[in-house]
Amino acid sequence: VVFDLDDTLIDHKKWMIGKLEAVADRFAGEQRDAFILAGLEFIDQGPLPTLIDAMIERLGWTSTDRDGMIECWRDARPAADPCFFEARPVLRELHRRGYRLGILTDNPPVSQQQKIDATGLDSLVDAVVFTRDAGGEKPSPEGFRRICEVLDVSPSETMMVGDDLFRDVVGAHGAGFAAITLLMRPGTCRSGSPAVADAAAGLVGSYARACDLREMLEGLGSDQFAASGNETAGGV
Ligand SMILES: [Mg+2]
Repeated sequence: VVFDLDDTLIDHKKWMIGKLEAVADRFAGEQRDAFILAGLEFIDQGPLPTLIDAMIERLGWTSTDRDGMIECWRDARPAADPCFFEARPVLRELHRRGYRLGILTDNPPVSQQQKIDATGLDSLVDAVVFTRDAGGEKPSPEGFRRICEVLDVSPSETMMVGDDLFRDVVGAHGAGFAAITLLMRPGTCRSGSPAVADAAAGLVGSYARACDLREMLEGLGSDQFAASGNETAGGV
């Protein structure tokens, strides 16, 4: 079973809020509340890739240390645990059942490694692959193939679990994964519109939907994804 990282195993917004507070502590001074509020708005509604620039513009800061703010954001390691509460228990349960587990994640490997180091998630899975190191971000098939190679499994016996219809679901289908679960958590960065998912049904191939990882876990067991050690045959 291969998991996406952001908004699948960890709460990306919670992680970013921790970084926002670190930048505010160092740069915002008496404007801390206004800075935090603007940051929360951009974290909630975007634009995420240019968040610092958007905040500087919003607050009208004309002579601020933009590069220092970006460096502070990148370096900040929030103390609060960003993992969803059920993530570690579900990973441990899947391991107990005999599944091979991986994490496949987009975005800069340095920032993703920082999250993995902070959460210790690498100790709960068998492999981590950064798509940018593997030849292309999702939905490109390279990363999906690489994680299967590292796990020593074939795509046809592998399930993908992720929160992004167009990256995780479309990508896993393109790479020939046997099954896919789209997580539609309320309030995450790509929480997923049910209307969009309904409209895309039939266009992106079949997949299951789940509200969280416990619901995903409940969907395993009686189908071809019964793990080795389970009484039913087959095995990932
Ligand atoms: Mg994600």
